[in-house]
Amino acid sequence: MKSGPVQKSETKNLIALLGKRLGEKNVLFALEDRLCYASDGSKQKYLPDIVVRPQTTQHVSDAVRLANEHEIPVYARGAGSGLTGGAVPVLGGMVLDFTQMNRILEIIPEDLVATVEPGVVTQTLQTEVAKHKLFYPPDPASAAFSTIGGNVAECAGGITGLKYGVTRDYILSLEVVLADGSVITTGRKTLKSVTGYDLTRLLVGSEGTLGIFTKITVKLIPLPEKIETLLVFFPTPEDAVTSANGIISHNILPRALEFIDKSSIDCIKGYRQEMELPEDANAILIIDIDGEEKSVQKGISLVESFVSKNNAMKVIAAKNAKERDALWEVRRILSPALYKIAPFKINEDICVPRSQILEILRAISEINSRYPFLKVANFGHIGDGNIHVNVMYEKENDQSFAEKMIEEIIHSTLRFGGTVSGEHGIGNVKSKFLPFEIAPQELQIMKNIKHMFDPKGILNPGKFF
Ligand SMILES: Cc1cc2nc3c(=O)[nH]c(=O)nc-3n(C[C@H](O)[C@H](O)[C@H](O)COP(=O)(O)OP(=O)(O)OC[C@H]3O[C@@H](n4cnc5c(N)ncnc54)[C@H](O)[C@@H]3O)c2cc1C
Repeated sequence: MKSGPVQKSETKNLIALLGKRLGEKNVLFALEDRLCYASDGSKQKYLPDIVVRPQTTQHVSDAVRLANEHEIPVYARGAGSGLTGGAVPVLGGMVLDFTQMNRILEIIPEDLVATVEPGVVTQTLQTEVAKHKLFYPPDPASAAFSTIGGNVAECAGGITGLKYGVTRDYILSLEVVLADGSVITTGRKTLKSVTGYDLTRLLVGSEGTLGIFTKITVKLIPLPEKIETLLVFFPTPEDAVTSANGIISHNILPRALEFIDKSSIDCIKGYRQEMELPEDANAILIIDIDGEEKSVQKGISLVESFVSKNNAMKVIAAKNAKERDALWEVRRILSPALYKIAPFKINEDICVPRSQILEILRAISEINSRYPFLKVANFGHIGDGNIHVNVMYEKENDQSFAEKMIEEIIHSTLRFGGTVSGEHGIGNVKSKFLPFEIAPQELQIMKNIKHMFDPKGILNPGKFF
């Protein structure tokens, strides 16, 4: 694999060839166009040499085959909302922008499946299948703008993970363009198949490093009849965590079980002063219960009595969809609200067994006490043990301290049996942590798989390893 950006003469050659095959309007090379593809949710900046906007599998195959022949890096891109730099073209080369391949190809209610192009926005799929009283459960907080292709490549999680699982659990079949431009279809459109190795499961979460998805068949389930939401305030994080664990150990599986800590609450207060949050609340749980009307009522009553026994200070119940939306607003505004505390932020995505949540929160607090000039806010999908640890700092110079602190948090996470990334992936941002968690022999198997799929290393180079 050639390192560094594509040579000028090669670029011209390639633009001409791609323009011929894909149509000139689908090949962008002006600086102002390329700048739009230089960054993603990780806020890094690397300029691509060419942007290709395919409309068909054939377009993708043509572009990747040419890139492979010329040994040019290929970076697939959905909405660019990834938080670990998955879509940033760190070695220049070609960005494949999938936003034009955004058709829902079929929804088959009898089979409980839908097939889509990768550029379909997650919420669009959820809305369309709901018209058939069907449900596509994976629900990242970015569902309103992120794409199914990006979700599959990152194995996106989200707020429904505890009850319904993550993207991996809903992918039945993938049409994939391989590094040499050939096209394969993994899996079947059946709800079960154990024929051969499970390549579909291997490709989900591969972050654009093994193949490029051009069609995705997802599993659907019946749409739950009813959802109810509670917003619960607690005097201590211990009360919130004990409640969360207790709810689950009493056989209630919430659709969502989200935790927000004291620093995050302070951010929300500063960001939206009109939100009436109790002064002395030090933790919040947001709880969604879904299912049949009767079982939802029963679940909500049990949760209410359970949180009261665990010192809940205030419980707000949403009575309708509008009120639900207002309660969830508390969680939705967190990401932008954090920037009110400090202009710089590193967002980690650790996941521990749920029984270790209090331990990891205590460890983070202890680590923070040794870096008192850094601010930390924790929130996340407590039901899955997935905590988003946000380390914020005032001056750019403090970045190295923030990175040191993160590294200590990662080591603690691993000591508690956890993992470096619950759902945001590795990209280039977390690649340094991969060897902390994955043993050398296992890492070598991963590298061998990468080499087999992509011998010239053109697919998303600079990521993962
Ligand atoms: C406000 C906010 C909230 C978020 N909340 C969550 C959350 O709750 N849960 C969660 O899991 N994530 C969350 N994310 C992260 C992000 O939205 C997800 O990782 C999402 O899956 C990325 O989708 P995308 O379309 O933006 O992909 P991109 O960022 O464009 O790309 C992500 C990766 O997918 C690859 N890729 C894209 N398309 C293809 C394709 N067709 N074939 C092969 N590879 C491809 C790219 O190369 C890259 O490696 C959040 C991000 C933001 C900004």
